[in-house]
Amino acid sequence: MGRFVTPDAYIESIYSISPEGLIKMGIKGLILDIDNTLVPTYTKNADIKVKAFLDNMKKNGIKTAIVSNAKQGRVEQFCRHLDVDYFYNALKPLKKGYRQAIENMGLRPCDVAIAGDQLFTDILGGNLLGMKTLLIKPIDRNEPFMIRLKRLFEKPFLRGKQYLDKF
Ligand SMILES: [Mg+2]
Repeated sequence: MGRFVTPDAYIESIYSISPEGLIKMGIKGLILDIDNTLVPTYTKNADIKVKAFLDNMKKNGIKTAIVSNAKQGRVEQFCRHLDVDYFYNALKPLKKGYRQAIENMGLRPCDVAIAGDQLFTDILGGNLLGMKTLLIKPIDRNEPFMIRLKRLFEKPFLRGKQYLDKF
């Protein structure tokens, strides 16, 4: 179990990730979670920061996609003004959503990284598929009850970890 919930890197914020850092790891595609990774859980719209982040990845040859467990309405509204492929109801940690996104990119799982804030969904799913996995520190603590519950189980796996503020 341990190794499947161990990410390749622990990162302070999604906005600490640079295309150069990904390229150095051999990563050609980046799959992103929305809630508490790109924006706080209850933020409905993508902001200029999200757009600039995605644009910068694209400019540097990194393919991007959004894979979220959230419902269609939430994900569609969030991605409305973004030029990015998106997949909703992804049922992470199941592989289906990730697999579709990776196929769309025309890449192999080992060339693609997942960046997300939850060990038992984002990271577990990525490791099961043989992707690179980047754990992002959740933006804030305002989360639905079920997720707060999962945070308790994450705790022992996160104790003493150092988070990078540049990647
Ligand atoms: Mg999340």
